[in-house]
Amino acid sequence: MSATRKEGVYSRRFAASDAASSVASPNDSPADSRFHNPAALRRASLMQEPVLVLNATYEPINVTAVRRAMVLLLKGVAQAEEMHNAEVHSAASAHKVPSVIRLLAYRHIPQQSRALSRKNILLRDRNTCQFCGRIFPSSELTLDHVVPRSRGGRSSWENLVACCYRCNNSKGDRTPEEAGFKLARRPRPFTLHTSRQLMRMIGHRDERWRKYLFY
Ligand SMILES: [Zn+2]
Repeated sequence: MSATRKEGVYSRRFAASDAASSVASPNDSPADSRFHNPAALRRASLMQEPVLVLNATYEPINVTAVRRAMVLLLKGVAQAEEMHNAEVHSAASAHKVPSVIRLLAYRHIPQQSRALSRKNILLRDRNTCQFCGRIFPSSELTLDHVVPRSRGGRSSWENLVACCYRCNNSKGDRTPEEAGFKLARRPRPFTLHTSRQLMRMIGHRDERWRKYLFY
């Protein structure tokens, strides 16, 4: 069995689990209103909203979800710097929803802080096939070993790229040079710099992030 085949199976399994986690629309079936509490659904999606995480020095270091950010606030590990115009209500109380939080103690961030994973490689490559340059949904991308494993290529940040199935199949067990392919750009580890670029892209959605990201 070739290396590329195995990865195809891996990513199809991923796609199935992605689909399973999607949230049903409140308008799906009026007859089943018991199971479609619009307020609960709104709350669930609000809890997934991105929150910018700043180091104690106000340096942006991460993006997390509202749910995780609120845990950090409740634990007293972070404080809220900017708030959404929304609240989440629990049985006993209402909590303002943070948009930007700041850690109270300085955290040292190692250069390569992200795990080598399929998700992070696709994120680094912006869901763009590194051979044909087209953008695909995650379910239609696989990972390609630039130097094939059969030729001693390692599973590393520098040797794994996002790749569409078509390019992956036509490249086969060859190097890009042998297959006549050219990499869109040299693959690099997912550094804090890359994370910052991504935070900037996400930050365009939220005005409250701008003063921390564009300086
Ligand atoms: Zn492609």
